[in-house]
Amino acid sequence: MKLTPCIRLLAATLSEGEMAAQVHLFLSPHADDAALSCGGQIASLTRQHQVTIFTLMIGQPPPEALNLPLAVYFHRKWGLGANVVTVRRAEDRLAARRMGSALLAGDLLEAGYRRDSQGNACYVEPASLHLAPNPADPLLQLLTGESVRNIFQAQGVVLSSDLVIHAPLGVGNHVDHQIVREMALLLAHENPALRLVFYEDYPYATWNDKVVPDALNETAARVQPRTLKRVLHPLDLRARLARIAAIASYRSQLSMIWRRGMVGMMLRTWQFMAQRGGEVEWEIT
Ligand SMILES: [Zn+2]
Repeated sequence: MKLTPCIRLLAATLSEGEMAAQVHLFLSPHADDAALSCGGQIASLTRQHQVTIFTLMIGQPPPEALNLPLAVYFHRKWGLGANVVTVRRAEDRLAARRMGSALLAGDLLEAGYRRDSQGNACYVEPASLHLAPNPADPLLQLLTGESVRNIFQAQGVVLSSDLVIHAPLGVGNHVDHQIVREMALLLAHENPALRLVFYEDYPYATWNDKVVPDALNETAARVQPRTLKRVLHPLDLRARLARIAAIASYRSQLSMIWRRGMVGMMLRTWQFMAQRGGEVEWEIT
């Protein structure tokens, strides 16, 4: 669904007093990140605001990328073969429906499918996904104001002053999350009227006590001289259940992330929301 007609529709159906309704765009590097990290907040916001999830790296890999080491590794873990993108897009649509959000599907490849100009894998080991991006990664070429603007405009995203962009903070340092955070920073730099907030990437935020402060330091350095302010979104029971239901849509991912699959996801996610008091974001001030 494109944002432009949505915004027009919203304007036509809201009364004058409700026109302050915001438009929220959640940037999800992969299918599942927005639901995993912000599912409760998205489900709450959709009661009053226009909400769209933009999954950027859900492009169809070319056949030759399916044999790269990380593609083989993840396909085995997910129990998916050549139909991987079809299944993951369907999971993404189901999750968006359960949260009441619109969904945009991007055409960028995720890290395991990306090759350098010689055709070699940019990332070979799972651990390499949590280091600095490979300088030969072709996505780094897209990190310019113009390229990023084109990616969003091609999806019909209107970069207006009532737009709130929710981007990954980069907790866990996944290269794809780092790249999407950089895209958001470039957009905000070119469009100062935008509100940019960063969500804590879950489940990476549960890894240890250092990952969130590390990501905060990294992101704070990128927004200087401005600073980051913690924003807590308390979630009611309905929103917490919606987050669990949305994450449950990603059946191919659950057993890779949680040893006990669906049950592990429900317990851990519920505990995490209780411990945080909801969901936490960091806003540029
Ligand atoms: Zn991700």
